[in-house]
Amino acid sequence: MLRLVVTGVLPLVCQRCLEAVPYDLDVDSRLELVPEGADLSQDELEDDTRDFLPVARELDVAELVEDEILLALPVAPRHEKCGLPSAADAGERINPFATLAGLKGKPN
Ligand SMILES: [Zn+2]
Repeated sequence: MLRLVVTGVLPLVCQRCLEAVPYDLDVDSRLELVPEGADLSQDELEDDTRDFLPVARELDVAELVEDEILLALPVAPRHEKCGLPSAADAGERINPFATLAGLKGKPN
């Protein structure tokens, strides 16, 4: 059994207003180490309370920590309360049609 604990605050991007939203990371995983290629029973695979980690001879700890952090992150982080970026800001940022408008009317 391997216990992996990762805590910290990560700055994610709010999917609504695109500003930074601090995310409290709190990973505490218990992984059951099993030999690579081990046959796990259907019951074991379907048991949500257990996590199995197939390991070969060496375990890449940095990769394991990265994977566990990625699994813990929300898919679409958002502030509890915030608004959409205002239309003025959006217009200044990128207007994909501005270039097209510039081309319009120009001879080839
Ligand atoms: Zn926001």
